[in-house]
Amino acid sequence: MKRSRFIKLGTATILAPIAMKLSALKSWADEQPRTDVMPAMFVGHGNPMNAILQNEFTHNWQKLGKELPKPKAILSISAHWLTNGTYVTAMEKPKTIHDFGGFPRQLFEQQYPAPGAPEVAKQVGMLVKTTDVKDDHQWGLDHGTWSVLLPMYPQADIPVLQMSIDYTKPPQYHYELAKELQALRSKGVMIMGSGNIVHNLGMVDFENKTRYDWAYEFDDKIKGFIDKGDHQSIIRYDKLGSIATMAVPTNEHYLPLMYTLGLQSKRDGIRYFNDKMDVGSISMRSILIN
Ligand code: ZN
Repeated sequence: MKRSRFIKLGTATILAPIAMKLSALKSWADEQPRTDVMPAMFVGHGNPMNAILQNEFTHNWQKLGKELPKPKAILSISAHWLTNGTYVTAMEKPKTIHDFGGFPRQLFEQQYPAPGAPEVAKQVGMLVKTTDVKDDHQWGLDHGTWSVLLPMYPQADIPVLQMSIDYTKPPQYHYELAKELQALRSKGVMIMGSGNIVHNLGMVDFENKTRYDWAYEFDDKIKGFIDKGDHQSIIRYDKLGSIATMAVPTNEHYLPLMYTLGLQSKRDGIRYFNDKMDVGSISMRSILIN
């Protein structure tokens, strides 16, 4: 319906002088909800078992998969693919990587046979100017990607590719790099950062009985900054002192958030989901920008 209004406006303005037509169209488009651009997400993936569990987190993933417009491809930036330099998976058939230990056999038996997206990989290489993004033919889909996509898009019929996180670079670098991917959203590609805002494995309580104040405080602070659009404070999370040291002892799960926020434009709204703590020290807070 929104799209047809767009076309109608275009037709109606044909009689107007061209310059006027363009500016009217532009300001009109700026005010409308977006139908032309794919949402971007930050997903708190947490426990790999979420891939096969039925819980409140996975129910929301399932719901989103049904609600969101079907992407032409999904580009995932997962906390579990860290490299020196930036790589993008360019194979036709990415393998399912079981990059964890000590879980039940049922989890190791899971496969996510989504096709790859070599064409999108090529576009990533062309769009990103900050660094030379190299093609990868070894990796595949790690659990940061497939444990979320299995419940979200169980049919595995949407092509998926991953871009790695250059662990030698600071948060600001990742935030800027994300901006160069913006054009993909207009081409039907959904970009998903997969990590956790609070992620302290050493403090995990699998019985879910522990409440860590530092975890809630850090998670609330980051949410507040997101609400205010204060991305600099999120990038410089280290300035938050001891709560940051506890919540982000190493930042590989935090960095995917830089990609989602870097993709947020003035026209994007924000929606949170799964905004809860799990196993004490992992925040499942997830963000949809659209
Ligand atoms: Zn993880």
